[in-house]
Amino acid sequence: MDPAERLARLDELQAEASGCTRCRLVEGRTQVVFGVGDPNADLMFVGEAPGFHEDKQGFPFVGQAGKLLDRLLEGIGLSRAEVYVSNVIKCRPPGNRDPVPDEIEACEPYLFRQIELIEPRVIATLGNFATKLLSGKQLGITRVHGQEQDVTLGGRRVLLFPLYHPAAALYTPSMLTVLEEDFARLPELLGRSTDTFPPESELEPALAVAMPVEAAPTATTTAAIRASFFFLITASFTRGYPMAVHRREARCNGGESPAPIGLSSGR
Ligand code: URA
Repeated sequence: MDPAERLARLDELQAEASGCTRCRLVEGRTQVVFGVGDPNADLMFVGEAPGFHEDKQGFPFVGQAGKLLDRLLEGIGLSRAEVYVSNVIKCRPPGNRDPVPDEIEACEPYLFRQIELIEPRVIATLGNFATKLLSGKQLGITRVHGQEQDVTLGGRRVLLFPLYHPAAALYTPSMLTVLEEDFARLPELLGRSTDTFPPESELEPALAVAMPVEAAPTATTTAAIRASFFFLITASFTRGYPMAVHRREARCNGGESPAPIGLSSGR
């Protein structure tokens, strides 16, 4: 999609979101906090939900956690203007409580559409809520931080990179150290994704979901890809997890949204 069209579609989506009444959070919000940054960014950050300052100012991560995010970005030679920043939930939950599953379910189409339009190569999820939603797995951030995952979102392959939430790191020095270490890997991941991600149009369409990051679509890897695909199909009849992936993809790609993915904070 060319940049002008992308911007126009994001603006349309933001206009739609600004009047959203899909959940109870409409009652207490000052405004919808849609997202901010470069619509053509390769790197997108997804946090949890707006807090007090975000609700007042209309932009994500403008409080203390945002200052830390800016400092971390500076450390890898990037500025806020060069990335895109958004949240799972676009309205502030009262008293900054955790979002609840039906609020996430009501709001997630906006995030999935943002991802589809922005087409980032790397999505850094900040904390449990974004990580669980976009990975489609219930593993908590303590288990998965700093471990990149190859996922398909918005019909494209994306590297998902779970990070500790900056707000949590503000108060726990050991967590801040880990966050800084994980953050320092982002330039490598951005370079890697550019080098190794073939456009989806070059993949056999039905195999795109199953293909691991390392596998290039060459004749030598075709057998392995077919085996993975066979496994995925077989497993989808016998286990819960692959179906969760299908469900997340269906929603991300504008499909029907059946059962909610049960989310717990995992904290
Ligand atoms: N925490 C978040 O997750 N998002 C914000 O926008 C601010 C704080």
